[in-house]
Amino acid sequence: MDRINRRTFLEGLGLVGAAALLSGCSTDSKSPAISDGAIGDLRKKLTGRVLTPGDPDYRTTGLPANTRFASTRPAVIAECRSEADVATAVRWALDNGVKPVPRGGGHSYAGMSATEGLLLDLSALNAVEAGASGLAVTGGAAKNSDVFNTLRDGRMALPGGTCLGVGVGGLVLGGGLGFYSRWAGLTADHLRSTRMVTATGEVIEVNASSHPDLFWACRGATGGQFGVHTQFTFELVETPSSVTYFRFEWRGADNATAVLANFDKIMASAPPALNGLVYAEATPVGTDGPRAAIDVVMRGQYMGPRAELEDLVRPVLTAAPATRRPQCRSCRTGRQRRSSSNRPPNCMRGTTSAASQKPLFPTTFGPNR
Ligand SMILES: Cc1cc2nc3c(=O)[nH]c(=O)nc-3n(C[C@H](O)[C@H](O)[C@H](O)COP(=O)(O)OP(=O)(O)OC[C@H]3O[C@@H](n4cnc5c(N)ncnc54)[C@H](O)[C@@H]3O)c2cc1C
Repeated sequence: MDRINRRTFLEGLGLVGAAALLSGCSTDSKSPAISDGAIGDLRKKLTGRVLTPGDPDYRTTGLPANTRFASTRPAVIAECRSEADVATAVRWALDNGVKPVPRGGGHSYAGMSATEGLLLDLSALNAVEAGASGLAVTGGAAKNSDVFNTLRDGRMALPGGTCLGVGVGGLVLGGGLGFYSRWAGLTADHLRSTRMVTATGEVIEVNASSHPDLFWACRGATGGQFGVHTQFTFELVETPSSVTYFRFEWRGADNATAVLANFDKIMASAPPALNGLVYAEATPVGTDGPRAAIDVVMRGQYMGPRAELEDLVRPVLTAAPATRRPQCRSCRTGRQRRSSSNRPPNCMRGTTSAASQKPLFPTTFGPNR
């Protein structure tokens, strides 16, 4: 029999996978009428708060990052403060025929964590611990920013995404692409184990030897299909002593053409240490007309020193000398990008570029670290 890859299998699985967590629960995202008695019962059992539309904090709690889905409001929000809370809420959902939908970082582009049923707000499960073992253990709703903050000396890194506000849960379950991917693979490639609450409220450890099929399926299945993940254990990667972050900017349609074409060429043969992207976006049209009203950005991360990066990207810089701002405005060398603490953990604008615009540790870490 031909071997199929995980993504193909999951695509084929489609609705079957989607229904797995919800077996026994309503598959209709609209909630059935939920009695006051049932809500009272959940309040008694949960250590976190249970919010319904009449509660003062309901309106502002549990809103997704993508405001397109802000009007899809849950019948009930269960703030899960622990794994036991998650299991309790899932069992309650099963007993009451309400669809439970977990939300981690709330950054689903497709609104997959918006529901009119029971919203499992996992945001309190955001702890991150990393020790000498080279492993990091995160809560089911830790964000990229929580991981960056824990690993801020930069010696070890989790190949993760670029937006500080994205949840590690949604990220790893969907694969997880970022500025380490060509060099170290996807976030899912670094998952070693996860704790899950199943559709029946049972807690299981899932890894290569315990429920291996489920472990395989989780790494790419997006989120919530097979259970609610309360914890992830990742194997970290050691970073080289120099890592260079870059951001170059241009203006105008001609530069956009030159940058995009040449970036494409260099990436076809670039070493895995070079990770980056380019984009062009329209800005308000001024007196120079529409062809000038285009911002062009090339940004990313090179797992090595700045001089090597500059050699690699020279064809782009030669084809389109940066005109708007000095070249390599944010070229910095340091072990780890600094995460911003004063920025709201929401970069719905799409990118995340803000993360690499931030100043970086000014030090080049030496061999003694
Ligand atoms: C601004 C922005 C930048 C992004 N940048 C990147 C990037 O650099 N790289 C990349 O790979 N992706 C990126 N993404 C995509 C992002 O990884 C996915 O949208 C991801 O699913 C979001 O996860 P979340 O936990 O923040 O979102 P949520 O909306 O909370 O969850 C997304 C899905 O995962 C489920 N889920 C979340 N946590 C759990 C859990 N603990 N247990 C079970 N199910 C769970 C939810 O039910 C939902 O189905 C970006 C998205 C945005 C909006």
